[in-house]
Amino acid sequence: MTRHTPPPPSTGCRNAPVLKQRGQHEVFCGLTGIIWLHRKMQDAFFLVVGSRTCAHLLQSAAGVMIFAEPRFGTAILEETDLAGLADAQNELEREVDRLLSRRSDIRQLFLVGSCPSEVIKLDLARAAERLTMKYAPRVRVLNYSGSGIETTFTEGEDACLASMVPTLPETDKRQLMLVGALPDVVEDQALDLLAQMGIEDVTVLPARHADTEVTVGPNTVFALTQPFLGGTHAALERRGARHLPAPFPFGEEGTTAWLQTVAREFGVDQARFGAVTDAPRARARKAVAKATETLNGKSVFFFPDSQMEIPLARFLTRECGMEAIEVGTPFLHRAVVGPELDLLAEGPQLSEGQDVDLQLERCRAAQPDLTVCGLGLANPLEAEGLTTKWAIELVFTPVHFYEQAGDLAGLFSRPVRRREALKLGAT
Ligand code: SF4
Repeated sequence: MTRHTPPPPSTGCRNAPVLKQRGQHEVFCGLTGIIWLHRKMQDAFFLVVGSRTCAHLLQSAAGVMIFAEPRFGTAILEETDLAGLADAQNELEREVDRLLSRRSDIRQLFLVGSCPSEVIKLDLARAAERLTMKYAPRVRVLNYSGSGIETTFTEGEDACLASMVPTLPETDKRQLMLVGALPDVVEDQALDLLAQMGIEDVTVLPARHADTEVTVGPNTVFALTQPFLGGTHAALERRGARHLPAPFPFGEEGTTAWLQTVAREFGVDQARFGAVTDAPRARARKAVAKATETLNGKSVFFFPDSQMEIPLARFLTRECGMEAIEVGTPFLHRAVVGPELDLLAEGPQLSEGQDVDLQLERCRAAQPDLTVCGLGLANPLEAEGLTTKWAIELVFTPVHFYEQAGDLAGLFSRPVRRREALKLGAT
């Protein structure tokens, strides 16, 4: 049976108190974003300027390393480089020369900073500028930081996209910009829905290829497809573009609200909107209903990890009948997740940042049916008998828009079902 989404709550969480925590936190660093970004930008290369730890992280985070190696690498700075910073700077530029001379397919090169103090002292922005002058127009060289000191794992994408914004050519054209690195098939579905509504002037950041022109200007409105793009949001506003605040396209309700926001902006009438969305909406509801049989009435606890927590809590509580106990997020950007907070009924504890031991205590006391957390916390919590979902899977799996709504719900229902089956087996 299809469960209908409840009307918006009279009191959402927009003004709910937020527990702010500034203690130890356990998350992956922003280098992780390279794993999905390199798939999206098909002629880009990500050169991590870092240590052996960074190289190992990339290797283990990317189980696909063997196939991916030609698209990212690590320039390892040894400790001896500390003695001569100028040498390290020159060595980095020589490394890039070697790479670009043997790889004519690279059109964009990202120098990605990391944690080690030797790297922090390097001026990657200057290196990127010098190298751009040298290799333009064939290659554009940009830099951003994926350092674990400054970023959680999804902020790597944010930093990468934000680094591209100042280089985008200016335009006066009235257009929509979709912002966020979606899998191509999902991006195509979104573009198709928009085209059916008559919205055709759409540009996407990041583009799949460097020679696809992405422009920005005062008549550009932009819609984020990921909630962790706060830095990119700010960079686009600095270029004069206007944000369309909306719930995120997770689940039937989020997708409809996101499309509705864009449709209103471009004057699409309700009849046309309905004609385009009615069928996929019904499919999405039906697909979510299957997972809801398992999730309805269950409780969920979010540790702060991906910055997707608030939209996902909205989806799970409103479309899948779950009860959220705590919704933790690394950062709470009200300009970005405000519309989500309006839809999330008051009740769950909102928390920003982390003090991991205190939060573990709260989680153990609450004994949620499902805990969404990072890899580092999942195993110990599973060993204690809690059921967990790895937050990182949510960025590796296509979960946006109508056709993926069932898969998104399934990501949460599967571990709950597995735990129930284990319990049954044990009795
Ligand atoms: Fe570790 Fe920092 Fe390198 Fe990330 S950037 S792998 S946190 S050393």
